[in-house]
Amino acid sequence: MNEKYILKCPDCGRVVVDRYTNTCPHGCTGLLRAYYAEKQLKLTRLPGIFRYSCWLPVSGSLPVDSAPVTYRSEGLAEVLGLKNLFISFSGYWPERGAQIKTCSFKELEALPTMVRMKERGSGILQISSAGNTGRAFCQMSALTGTPVVVVVPESSAGRLWTTEPAENVCLITVKGDYTDSIELGNEVCKTDGIIPEGGARNVARRDGMGTVMLNSAVTTGRLPDYYFQAVGSGTGGIAAWEASERLIGDGRYGEKLPRLCLVQNEPFAPILHAWEEKRHSLIPEIDMPDAKRSISAVYADVLTNRYPPYAMKGGLFDALTATDGQMSSATNREAELAEKIFIESEGIDPDPAASVCVAALKKAVEDGSVDKNANILLNIAGGGYERVREDHTLYTVEPFLKVQAGISGEDVRDEILGWMRDHA
Ligand SMILES: *Cc1c(COP(=O)(O)O)cnc(C)c1O
Ligand SMILES: [Zn+2]
Repeated sequence: MNEKYILKCPDCGRVVVDRYTNTCPHGCTGLLRAYYAEKQLKLTRLPGIFRYSCWLPVSGSLPVDSAPVTYRSEGLAEVLGLKNLFISFSGYWPERGAQIKTCSFKELEALPTMVRMKERGSGILQISSAGNTGRAFCQMSALTGTPVVVVVPESSAGRLWTTEPAENVCLITVKGDYTDSIELGNEVCKTDGIIPEGGARNVARRDGMGTVMLNSAVTTGRLPDYYFQAVGSGTGGIAAWEASERLIGDGRYGEKLPRLCLVQNEPFAPILHAWEEKRHSLIPEIDMPDAKRSISAVYADVLTNRYPPYAMKGGLFDALTATDGQMSSATNREAELAEKIFIESEGIDPDPAASVCVAALKKAVEDGSVDKNANILLNIAGGGYERVREDHTLYTVEPFLKVQAGISGEDVRDEILGWMRDHA
């Protein structure tokens, strides 16, 4: 292999040329995967996650410090009676070296995605988000000047802030929910030059999130026995599995895949329901009846994806199967209690989704499904919102367009072309 990496389709097995390619050109449905020339993880001196550049599908980097931080828990470990609990923290907590200013691991996805588009694609990235992903891409746009188009539900607009003014973000808010913003995003991408970011299909996004597992392995010297993460799409779970396979291939971190312990927030838990029946695909009527109401009832709404990458080859079903994984859930009450415990024992505020994850770990310890001596990696995928306000000015991103749900690409094309003339 002369290239740093190749992309391969898990269905037809063919190598796919990377032109910011997110689906197999032969029409297969599986998730393309990156295979790297370097079989052993070699760390670089580059900033942030580009330290792990050898396993990122990019050549260049960005001068941004964002990266996950792994440390051995003392406080929460003692409360739960765990002997080997490690916390991976992706947020803002400078006392621990954590510098993700938009406070979630979505920055780990946004960073290599911006670089990959510049190197392999041509166009302006479009992102649909319920909040954390949109904020991460707005921040990267603010830091680099690269234009992006972000579509969010109107009710999430307040979550879009950055620590530098974001002058090249085309923010469109939709009167509707996350699903409406995904649909409008698809319409916006009918304008020439606007390219969908790709979500779970984007290898840069998955391998960026995979740095959580890489950082943990480098810090602790081994793969964990269990990996706990709250999921909406489950992309982070797939990423953890893929990174673990690479680490096994490296040879220095162990031979056994960590068990994926993925968590949803009741009453919206479609992945849990499908997995409990060992069903290979999601059935909306069975797995998410009354979706609108249950989505509006959860504590952590970043965990409410109606289209998780579950059934396709290389997706969540395969990840859970390969790792002998387990799905669980936590209620809002359990999450809120776990949040209090986490703040008191660890000293930082977790993202609501991370609180759901802490609640699930607590339940797993209590019901004996994890061994107290096991090596556990708890992914606190967001946090430090209070801490970042002490050090930084937060700039709200102002909407460029406010629209109704259900409108077509035609209806917004002229405005978007006008914005592109001014910004791209
Ligand atoms: C997005 C997000 C999740 C869920 O991640 P997926 O793997 O994409 O489902 C969990 N926690 C936080 C803090 C997030 O921002
Ligand atoms: Zn294929």
